[in-house]
Amino acid sequence: MTWQNELSSAFRRADELSQFLGWPVPQLDNYPLLVTRGLATLIRKQGPNGVLARQFLPHQEESAHHGLLDPIGDQAHAKTAQLIHRYHNRALLIPTTVCPVNCRYCFRKNELLSDGPFAQEREQTLNYLMQHPEIEEVIFTGGDPLILSDEKLGAWLELLATIPHIRHIRFHSRVPVILPTRLTEDLSDVLESFAGRFTLIMIVHSNHVSEWSDAAIKAVRHFRPGGLRWMSQSVLLKGINDNPLTLAELFRFFAQLDVRAYYLHHPDQVRGGMHFWLDLEAGRKVWGALHDQLPGWMLPQYVIDIPGGHGKTPAFNPEGHSFSGSLLDRSGQLIQTIQPSFPVSDSTARP
Ligand code: SF4
Repeated sequence: MTWQNELSSAFRRADELSQFLGWPVPQLDNYPLLVTRGLATLIRKQGPNGVLARQFLPHQEESAHHGLLDPIGDQAHAKTAQLIHRYHNRALLIPTTVCPVNCRYCFRKNELLSDGPFAQEREQTLNYLMQHPEIEEVIFTGGDPLILSDEKLGAWLELLATIPHIRHIRFHSRVPVILPTRLTEDLSDVLESFAGRFTLIMIVHSNHVSEWSDAAIKAVRHFRPGGLRWMSQSVLLKGINDNPLTLAELFRFFAQLDVRAYYLHHPDQVRGGMHFWLDLEAGRKVWGALHDQLPGWMLPQYVIDIPGGHGKTPAFNPEGHSFSGSLLDRSGQLIQTIQPSFPVSDSTARP
């Protein structure tokens, strides 16, 4: 089956999915249901109380009204309808609002419901990029950029290749896990043809080892066109992976798959997703224990997006990039005070 057929045959109605799974699935109006048949099979195998059901099936808790509609402040940095320029030398491009699945915790779940802010505006987007020579990296996000056809993706890359200061292209995608049939030879050829022009990076979004089918593992292992670098991003989610053993298993798995663990995001305070949220102290305890279990090269950066569009900052070091001068041990006890001998700046926060 092609990836397009797989996507068009995905479950979009709660009654049909419920019949397939063998247990009730609520129909919610505020955020649609979207589950591919491959993912539904994994959910069924794990059962109604599994971490896959919790991540991807609607739940009444989503109707709660607390939390933020735009938790990371995208709109404060929107330069065109599909471009967000929050960090000096890189910009987020949102070429589509479509995803291969509707994750129930999604930090953009309220934005993706409307086409309004992300309507097609390619010309203005390209003009903005041309006029900003400081932007050296374009990050395709969404929605999920790999939902675009090969032709559309190729056309975007062709246009970006005409802007000399853009040297790196990054894709943030859940497709490799949820719809691995999308990693086709044709897509490989498209990316390969830009290999000499751009550094190509694929950041795969995954929160739990059980999301990975054999097909997804095989696809990621073999899909390396033009030196494509694989990295990961995961979200710390209450009830899904908020314990060090689960996360250690995930990051060991990435290492075996030759995917560099890049980000662990502290959960955002998203409206309709607050049942996944945990406070920073709880997250830091998990991180501290995880830190003791894995070698440094397997660990991602643990980061938090400051609400209001202030960007990411390290979550394990609330002082950000400035150094207070205090060296503390794991229990928080002051061991030594030293004077920084170099200027500090907060301009190195990473998206
Ligand atoms: S794939 Fe990403 S953008 Fe799409 S619903 Fe999931 S978290 Fe949100």
